[in-house]
Formats: sequence, C-alpha cells, structure tokens
Amino acid sequence: MNSVKIENVNIKWLGHSGFLLEGDGKKVYIDPFEISEEPAFDDKADILLITHEHFDHCSPEDIRKVRRSDSTTLIPENCSLEFRGDARRVAEGDTLADGLEIKGTRIEVVPAYNLNKTYHPRGFGVGYIVELGGIRIYHAGDCDFFPEMKSIKADIALLPIGGTYTMDEEEAASAAAVISPKIVIPMHYGRSGRKDGNPEKFKTLVHGKNPDINVIILDS
Ligand SMILES: [Zn+2]
Repeated sequence: MNSVKIENVNIKWLGHSGFLLEGDGKKVYIDPFEISEEPAFDDKADILLITHEHFDHCSPEDIRKVRRSDSTTLIPENCSLEFRGDARRVAEGDTLADGLEIKGTRIEVVPAYNLNKTYHPRGFGVGYIVELGGIRIYHAGDCDFFPEMKSIKADIALLPIGGTYTMDEEEAASAAAVISPKIVIPMHYGRSGRKDGNPEKFKTLVHGKNPDINVIILDS
C-alpha cells in the first residue's frame, strides 16, 4: 500500500521524501524524486512544493514530469536553481504567522534545519504545512528535532527517520510526541537498499511515547 485516504484527503508516498497530496480537487506534490512514470496531464501538480535544493528533494528531471505550465511552485529563498512559470520564493517566518494562500489552499512555511549536523543549516530549506479538506499535513523536509516543532500544529506529520542527514527513529519519535498529530508517516529512509531508518522501530518508539498516535508505514 503506497497511499492512504484520511477523510477526504489522499496521501500517496512517492518514495524517499516525495508525496502527492490530493484533496479539495487539488494535487499537491512535495519533493518528487525518482518517479517511475510521468503522471497523466490531469494528475500533474496544481501546486509543487520543494523543501530544499539537495538532489534528492529538488530533482529537475522529476519536477519536469509532474509540473504543468500552470503549476504553482514554492521554492526556498536560498535555492540557487532557476524555475520557469509561477515559481515563488518562500522562507520560514515570512508566512509562519499568517499563512499563504495559493489557489485557495492554505500553506504555511516552517523551519527545517539540523542541530548536530552540517547538511542543512537554518535558512537553507523549509518545511510546509498544507491544509487540504480541513486537514493539516506537515512535511518536515530534512531536519533534526528542532525547538520550533513544539509550535507546529498538524493532523498528519510526515517525518524523516533516516538518521544520517536528518532525525533518526528516536529523534523523530520525540518529534512526533511533541507535535502530537493523529497520524504520522515516516519518510526519508531505506533508499536504494540503504539500511538507514527502520519504520517498525520508529512505530514502536512512537507508541512508547504516545499510543494514541497512529503510525502508518507506506510502501513506496
Ligand atoms: Zn537534504
């Protein structure tokens, strides 16, 4: 199972940190990477969100597959790549307080950074909270368990657990406990046979902290 329907919102894992969120008649892609097939025209992005410019999150080849000429793309201010069409530069804090509405969809741009690693300094990338069908979905990007997470309010959290470049299972479980969403979906693990990140371990750790959080492990 690579997707799950929660009320009126469908969440599909595209592998790694890539997701397709569908709700309110819109398709929102986040960090598409190594997509096997180009979606049909009607299944392409109304909104495309890029968390940061690392190749496994901002992949020109995959962006070309999911983007249409009328797609709106959000990219972090510090991303060095140029985008065509309706591409808007965003940064954490610009929009954290009052949100940013795109095509009627409310999107908040939140911090995403490492604490004890150098790969993602603060300001390099962002995370997003997308509101679809009345549900708030938080995509954490590449980050550690940073202090501002305690002010993130989300029904569903998509959290990295890989541990080399991001939080590991333990840190992500602590993040889940603090955010306290109804559902958490692990991401950013096990790519191309790598051994980093164990979703079952993550699930056990989350339930040890809060048994009411539903951990859904998707297949990519
Ligand atoms: Zn990264």
